[in-house]
Amino acid sequence: MPAPDPQAALKSKASGDVQKIYADLAARPLDRQCQLRTGCCHFQATGKIPLLTRGEALVAAKALRATGRKSLPARADGACPLLDAITSRCLIYESRPFGCRTHFCQAAGGPYPRSHVLDLIRRLEEIDASLGGDGPHPLPAAISSALADRA
Ligand code: SF4
Repeated sequence: MPAPDPQAALKSKASGDVQKIYADLAARPLDRQCQLRTGCCHFQATGKIPLLTRGEALVAAKALRATGRKSLPARADGACPLLDAITSRCLIYESRPFGCRTHFCQAAGGPYPRSHVLDLIRRLEEIDASLGGDGPHPLPAAISSALADRA
């Protein structure tokens, strides 16, 4: 039997911990309802790109692989590469990053106050550090890196 891969175990634990953070966010009493309008997914229009810690990128990359893709789809219009060009839906909605759940969309109720989610951000930072990360990176680069790192 092959020896257990400590890196794989670490990543598996990190992915589970990130998903727990997403669940804890959803259970918070502050009411936010994403309307699936995808305005925030058009980075060029908003001028804002979500920043992902390494754990978030691992979760997003796993979800993208589950769709049968091995790399980020190309977008020529400056939108998020995970926004499906045909359906205009997020390819990984259930696994979308923290920033996609908490940001600035007024239709969803406006941004979360930082004080309301600071403890969750700290947990994401701790997971990032446990994976040898160096802090958050813009979504395309973060997920491309996670897709390339299959250890
Ligand atoms: S990951 Fe999904 S929700 Fe987040 S910006 Fe991209 S398409 Fe939108």
